[in-house]
Amino acid sequence: MTAIRIVPERLLADLDKLRTFGQCGSGVIRPAYSEAELASRRWLAERMTEAGLEVAVDPVGNLFGLPPGDARCLLIGSHSDSQPEGGWLDGAYGVIAGLEVARASLESGGPRIAVVSFQDEEGRFTTLTGSSVWAGQMPLAEAERLTDDGGVTLAEARRQPDGLPAATEMPTERFSAFLEIHIEQGPVLDSAGERIGVVENIVGIRSERLRFTGEQNHAGTTPMHLRRDPVQGLVRYVTGLNSRFENLVTPATVWTVGHVAVHPNASSIVPGHVDFTVQWRDADAARLDRMTEVVRGTALEIAEAMDLGLDLSGYAAIAPTDCAPVLIETLAKAAEELAPGKWRRMPSGALHDAANVSYRMPMAMLFVPSKRGISHSFEEDTDRTDLVLGVEVLAQAAASM
Ligand SMILES: [Zn+2]
Repeated sequence: MTAIRIVPERLLADLDKLRTFGQCGSGVIRPAYSEAELASRRWLAERMTEAGLEVAVDPVGNLFGLPPGDARCLLIGSHSDSQPEGGWLDGAYGVIAGLEVARASLESGGPRIAVVSFQDEEGRFTTLTGSSVWAGQMPLAEAERLTDDGGVTLAEARRQPDGLPAATEMPTERFSAFLEIHIEQGPVLDSAGERIGVVENIVGIRSERLRFTGEQNHAGTTPMHLRRDPVQGLVRYVTGLNSRFENLVTPATVWTVGHVAVHPNASSIVPGHVDFTVQWRDADAARLDRMTEVVRGTALEIAEAMDLGLDLSGYAAIAPTDCAPVLIETLAKAAEELAPGKWRRMPSGALHDAANVSYRMPMAMLFVPSKRGISHSFEEDTDRTDLVLGVEVLAQAAASM
């Protein structure tokens, strides 16, 4: 086994540079296909080229850096787009880590390693857009019709000139396995004083878009008993969901009504309809199924009881995913060697591109601590020593694969 010697200063300098694209305070605003995001990918492509990697872009916009030669090789990466208000490490860390390990391996005569930055992980169009299409979980034509909140389609966003090579197909068969390193985005490692998490599985996510339709009317003249008010229905729904989930969930299960849009959203109008989303996450597919029944059944009952119209649209399901046991053990061995007693095996409560990639090849993940567990926020941060250690563990594991 040839050791892959990473260069910590170069790793951190590249991370700092990536942060300058769309930087806002200590965080970044770099959604997929924004000006800042396109500029960051041009820079990433330059860094790949300088490292001796061949740059390729697939039809949905994923950016690959490929080592010389044709044989199947390990792929390492994550995403470099951000939430509308994002931290500087979410995804960016995994992409720069992949770049550093691929680059250092070329320099040290180690195994051939490729790097990828998946497009639109953060969901300007839909969750994990780039890796969903690449892994065959969503047809490209369907993805191209997706729209962002402003009505722009993915196809339109893709058409703007980006200064990157023309799109080519990138068969998943070119790669033997996938590793992704990511900040934890939760408080477990930080609060335990540990430095590395070896991920065993990624939770599944279900979501549903619902609409209660009532009767829009005057808020002063319509007696309470004659109203069909969808916001009253929504309040009853959320309360009902909480009590019905009680006997079904574990302390690790989470659910969220995260988006609510009241129409027409005026203080003197009994609302005509309310659109809202419910999202629920758990590592057990059977539990997720039972929760789906509750989400739908409760909505139906309340709509009937309150004489409201009910529309269900936009159901989405991402199955829970297990990491490949042999890769988990390789990462665990490297973690024990470089951070003895300071690492743990753990699940991922956040979704990652790795979940999609697992449909095509063995996959595993590493976490480093997030200070105070904060992410999807400008406050997101990780100690620089932990950022370096994570990539050292990654490189050690990659060298032995
Ligand atoms: Zn991420």
